[in-house]
Order: sequence, then structure tokens, then C-alpha cells
Amino acid sequence: MPELPEVETVRQTLQKQIIGKKITDIKIYYDRILENISATEFKKSLIGQTFKKMDRYGKYLFFILDTYTLIVHLRMEGKFFLKKIDDELNKHEHIVFILDDQISFRYHDTRKFGRMVVLKTIKKAEIMKYPALAKLGKEANDTHFTKEELYDKLKKKKEFIKGALLDQSIICGLGNIYVDEVCFMSKINPSTMANRLNLDDVGHLLDSSITVLAKAIKAGGTTIRSYTSSLGVTGLFQLELLVHDKENKPCPICGTIIKKEFVCGRGTYFCPKCQKIKGPKVIGITGSIATGKSVVTTYLKKQGYEVLDADEIVREEKKPQGLLYEKLIKVFSNQILDENGNINDQMLSRMVYHDEKMRKKINALIHPIVFTICEKKIAKSSAQIIFLSVPLLFEAGFDVLCDEIWCVYLQSDVQVDRLMKRNHITEEEAKQRIQIQMSQEEKCQKSTYIIDNSRELCYTIEQIQKILNK
Ligand SMILES: [Zn+2]
Repeated sequence: MPELPEVETVRQTLQKQIIGKKITDIKIYYDRILENISATEFKKSLIGQTFKKMDRYGKYLFFILDTYTLIVHLRMEGKFFLKKIDDELNKHEHIVFILDDQISFRYHDTRKFGRMVVLKTIKKAEIMKYPALAKLGKEANDTHFTKEELYDKLKKKKEFIKGALLDQSIICGLGNIYVDEVCFMSKINPSTMANRLNLDDVGHLLDSSITVLAKAIKAGGTTIRSYTSSLGVTGLFQLELLVHDKENKPCPICGTIIKKEFVCGRGTYFCPKCQKIKGPKVIGITGSIATGKSVVTTYLKKQGYEVLDADEIVREEKKPQGLLYEKLIKVFSNQILDENGNINDQMLSRMVYHDEKMRKKINALIHPIVFTICEKKIAKSSAQIIFLSVPLLFEAGFDVLCDEIWCVYLQSDVQVDRLMKRNHITEEEAKQRIQIQMSQEEKCQKSTYIIDNSRELCYTIEQIQKILNK
């Protein structure tokens, strides 16, 4: 799809090719391209008019004539060609202008999404009153667009910055390709909530927009897949793209592998290291098996804190409509299902605990899915602090999501005892399950705070409150 730089390239090219030429006839083969005017009126208005100037706003091209303005939006595939009058008509050429020097100027559109509007004015202020134009925001490369203005618009937006930058009423002229580039240059993750950005971040976005668009216009726009600009001009900016379309290639700044994710329904490219999601403070809660993480999270929830619980997410996604259900059946077959078609957790954990290879396999399947769900929930949260409870927080790499980590600790003998009672298992089984995890000591060492849950509940709560007060 042509974006602002491509449309600007078309404008500059046409400025050289058609200015001063008079329309002597018009042939219309598909009149639904015309948005606000009938085919008859279109011809009546424009035949006899001379092209005076080419202008543009965002992705709209303005053909300024003697007394009329023709506005064209190329949408997905619209292009213009100059051909000889008797050249054969291509089936995708829908509107043909015959010019006075015996040249035909043809509008070509394979998908027919492009639109033309005719207005009886040549004044820009009047043109901009046309409804589709009136609702557009300032242009992304407008040097008079201040960061304060953009910040005012973004601070009310509870959506990802990717979506906000694609919203033409907020900022005009950035499409999918350039939003990725602008976010990368500004070190902002496309999945960051727009209202979490500060004035400096917004300033970076505007500076990057101006830089990226100026570079792209100079290079003649970007050609990816179907789009080539009019008259055979092919843009070269794709040679300079930093992240867009670079999945699995190294980040040009830090070397981390560029990721592709769907954000706001659009294929989005970013460096996970340079572009961290700006979200609430994330406090990880972890601890070895049966140490009582839920005691801590239950208390935090009661205090009104937002808590993300990995076990709860797994439980939810294991349900028949969840993301893990089919995947687990594929690995373990139907034998893990109960008579109602639900996954039998006890059966599953028994199979996993006795088979290290299988345990690794199932963890490799579950962890990335839960990680992505947590990442998205954190990004979308409007809380100042969010707690993330993950039993295998270190083992599964969830620590990268956390600003600090609390480890719930239990004296070893108490832990064995509690696990035996909780899961109705023998001492030997309990010890075996504890052994396969990272040791409590190692977890404590890697954590910011340790909460000793070996004694009565009130002592545990006292410790939590002390940390919270800090
Ligand atoms: Zn990077």
C-alpha cells in the first residue's frame, strides 16, 4: 500500500509530467472510483480544465486545475500511467484522461479500492473541509506539529501506540511500514499503551517521523510486494528499512533477533531488547513447590493489587477453548482427558513428574504461550504495580519481565510436610518433586526480597507489609 513518501513521489513525478496540460476528453470504464460525483458531472466539470499544480495532504493527492480540484486516494493499488492515445487499454485502467498533446493519462487500479473526488474550488483551506480530509490530524512530517500537541492526543488513548500512530486522525501519513520504523528509532515497543508515553517519548516519535519520512521521500518511497509508484518509478527506501520486514535478522543496534508479532491486526516488527514495553512496575512472585505463593498473592489481591497468576492462566488455557488444549492432546493423546473431555490435571502431572524428557517438552510448549499472555496483560494494564506469580519464574525466563522479585521461602522439612499433605503423596514422592526444581537457596539468591512462610500467617503478612512500605 502506498504510504506518504510513495504518494509524495507520485506527486513530484506528476508535477513534472502533466502540469500545463489540458484535459480534452475523459473515458470512464468503472465509475465507482468516483466518490462524490456522477460520471457525467465528472466529465462536464473537468473537460477543458488545465492541470496547474500538484499538491498533497497525507496520502491524498490534489490535482489543482483552473477552477476545480481533483482529489485522489490511491488506497491499496492505485497508480497513474502516461501512455499513447492508441495504446491498448489495460483491463485495470478505469479512468482515462486525454490530454491536449495527444497523450492519455490513465488511472490503473487492480483492486479498485482507490477513490476520486471533485471539488469546485482550488483553495487549500476549502479543499481541507471535505469530510474525509477534515478529520485528518496534522501530518507526521509537519515541523510545526509540537510534541505537546501529540502528547495531548495520546494521553487519552487506551490503545497500543502502534494503533494510535496508524490512526490518521491523530497523526496523518504514517502507515504500517513507517510506524514500525518510527517506533524502532524512538526505542518504543509498538505494544506499549499510548497513554504510558511521556512527553520525551512523544518528542522522539515526532523527530523520528520527520527523519524517516524525509529519508523515504528522498529515496522515492518504499516498494514492498505489490506497490510500485506511478510511471515506472520504483522506490528504494526498502534498502534502508531498519526493522520492517526483517524478522529473524539481527537488530542493527544491538544484534538481538528482530521479532514479528501481530499488533492491532498488523504484522509488526521490533527489537525485543531495544524496544521494551513501557508498562507498570512488575514484581515477580516465585518460590519452590508448596512454599505458599498463593498465601502471598491472596493477601495482595485483598489489598487491591493486580495479580497475574501463571498457574491460573495455564488452567484457563487448558480448557477446551484455550490455547493449550489441542497442543497438549497432540503430545499426550486422548489419555489425558476425563470422561467430559477435560484435561485431567492429576493424570498430566503424574506423567510429567516421572519423565524428564516429557517434562521439558511440555514446559517448552506451555511457557512461551503463558509468557506472551503475561506480556500482553502487563502492557494493557493501567495499574502502577502489577504482581506476576510464576512457580518456575527463573527456570522459564519470566524474570526478564520483572523489575524486582520476591521469593517465598519455607524451611525444608516444613516444605516436604506441606507438599505431602497438599498432594496426598508419600515423603519420597514429595522429595522427588522438590528435587527436580531449582533449589530454594538459588531462588532466594536471585530474588530482591525473601518472604519466610514457615511460621503462622500473621508473620508472613508482616513481612509483606514491610516490603510494601519500602
Ligand atoms: Zn536491538
